[in-house]
Amino acid sequence: MSILAAALGLGACAYPYTPPALSPVTAPAPAATAATEQRSVVTILISIDGFRPDYLERGVTPALSGLARNGVTGPMLPSFPSKTFPNHWTLVTGLTPDHHGIVGNNMEDATRPGEKFTMATDDPFWWNAAEPIWVTAERAGIRTATMFWPGANVAWGGTLTKGENHGVPVGGVRPHDWQQYNIALSGAQRVDAVVDWLRRPAATRPRLVTLYFDTVDTAGHEHGPDAPETTAAVAEVDGLIARLQRDLAGLGQPANLVIVADHGMAATSSTRTIALDRIADVADYRVLEAGPYGSLYPMPGREAALARALTQATPHMTCWPKAAIPARFAYGTNARIPPWLCLAETGWSIVKTGPTEAFAGGNHGYDNRAPEMRALFVASGPAFRAGVRLAPFPNTDVAPLLRDLIGLPAGRGLDGDDAPFRRALIRSDERR
Ligand code: AMP
Ligand code: ZN
Ligand code: ZN
Repeated sequence: MSILAAALGLGACAYPYTPPALSPVTAPAPAATAATEQRSVVTILISIDGFRPDYLERGVTPALSGLARNGVTGPMLPSFPSKTFPNHWTLVTGLTPDHHGIVGNNMEDATRPGEKFTMATDDPFWWNAAEPIWVTAERAGIRTATMFWPGANVAWGGTLTKGENHGVPVGGVRPHDWQQYNIALSGAQRVDAVVDWLRRPAATRPRLVTLYFDTVDTAGHEHGPDAPETTAAVAEVDGLIARLQRDLAGLGQPANLVIVADHGMAATSSTRTIALDRIADVADYRVLEAGPYGSLYPMPGREAALARALTQATPHMTCWPKAAIPARFAYGTNARIPPWLCLAETGWSIVKTGPTEAFAGGNHGYDNRAPEMRALFVASGPAFRAGVRLAPFPNTDVAPLLRDLIGLPAGRGLDGDDAPFRRALIRSDERR
């Protein structure tokens, strides 16, 4: 069996294929370590939050550009809303936010009155509608480890205790190794933690790993996508990818790297704002989320008045009742989506009231088809061909790709599939 087919665990089948077994697959280690161990291929899913594909053209990404050149790349379309938590959950479940239930970074649920979901919520209740790939993998005997990923600290499928020990998870599945999110942990520490996991003996070494970097998104928000500070953050994360590559090579650890972003970034300014209080009577609604889009609940008895106000033509903003959100957003059936969605033109900001302070920076959450919202995708490793350029594809297709890479059967009822990647993967009939 060729190195590449073996690395994919293709057995005798060509794509589309049913993996014959979930046993670890091997690839020869480089000459330096060949005498010591034949290491199984690890799949490493890396998220660089807010990394727009065109950041690769700034001349500061030798590592990422090299991986793209020697592997597979193409613009990835986020799901709506182009926010962090909905899209990270899509990437690991293969479902749209409407279907997986993480419909925003902030949410309410009528069955849990008085509770709010924020990015710090790890109560499985909010996450249980869709199974992330690390849970599927763990159940199939494939060891996983997560160096941060939204939802990876959740005891998936479990519950939280009520009463005296309120908040203690009962049941559920987590990655074998996981970390509570901590923004203060440096990028280098995150990379080193992954490499340390891979230093373990084969029996306890993970075969699926996630790694997450936040700094490009933070710089994009603070300074805007075109600012030198954002380019500096891009360069820094590229250095972290190079560090990972160096350490993997040092270990003789073959890896399929799947490097993604959750969304892009658009320049914003206080000169481009839409104040909700100038459009509707503040007594008629309350706002759940504002910014690139606004989500609103009508006050009891004020539904018709709010509908009248929001459906009048407003420059740079369109509002829909949730049942009338255009189909291309694939958003509007989930019970957690508030009754009204207002979407700003890309680069405009919906604010509750006129801005009191000047601001300029960047944001995301806009129309997921906007060019500025496109997300990075680079994949490289023994499973991937060199020099493949993909047409734009939806990020619901990433989880099906990951399933192929770690040898899980195709998922059922997913919103995405592995079709965009079939010509990018080394097929078993190419075995030498
Ligand atoms: P957004 O507001 O959509 O730009 O979200 C980006 C922010 O999400 C980053 O600043 C991260 O610090 C934060 N974040 C990313 N992963 C997690 C996590 N697992 N738990 C809590 N916050 C996170
Ligand atoms: Zn993000
Ligand atoms: Zn962000």
